[in-house]
Amino acid sequence: MTTEIDLKALVRTIPDYPKPGIMFRDVTTLFGHPSGFRVSVEKLVAPFREQRVEAVAGIEARGFILGGAAADRLHSGFVPIRKKGKLPHKAIGQDYELEYGVDVIEIHEDALSPGEPVLLVDDLIATGGTAVAAVKLLRRLKAEVVGAAFVIDLPDLGGCARLAELGVPCHTLVSFEGD
Ligand code: AMP
Repeated sequence: MTTEIDLKALVRTIPDYPKPGIMFRDVTTLFGHPSGFRVSVEKLVAPFREQRVEAVAGIEARGFILGGAAADRLHSGFVPIRKKGKLPHKAIGQDYELEYGVDVIEIHEDALSPGEPVLLVDDLIATGGTAVAAVKLLRRLKAEVVGAAFVIDLPDLGGCARLAELGVPCHTLVSFEGD
């Protein structure tokens, strides 16, 4: 028999980081735990094991750590979605709104083929702004987004609801009330 580990208890909360009023959900404590990382990755990919997933797209930077391991589990490729100006080859960009101003994420223009089934991965979904921009990038490459998976959901901020409106199933492992 295996004992269930409490993933939520392994997430460290840092109040007022990076600025006053933000409760930062720090996954380094979860990733550093002897079995926390492995169990998180197993649970993250579980609903997608029976589906065809040819690539996992991970969002910089914590989405790289989870996405790489998820791709290994699913026997798929890994595709990075990066902040503007970091990818070495020709890329397409998508902007999204932040609390103050806009940001841009990019993907290599030849990272995926039309119809390729892809799973989006990041550590946390809050407003969903980043994930929605990532879905738009993947769809601009005509990939088929089979779902999106996050360790942490902040449901009060509505990110998974925004993905659902786009027809993207949202899978999360633990949730925290508030923002
Ligand atoms: P959003 O675009 O609002 O869904 O924000 C998601 C992105 O911002 C993810 O890449 C998260 O790592 C990061 N993020 C947003 N809010 C938090 C938070 N409270 N704690 C840790 N990371 C956060």
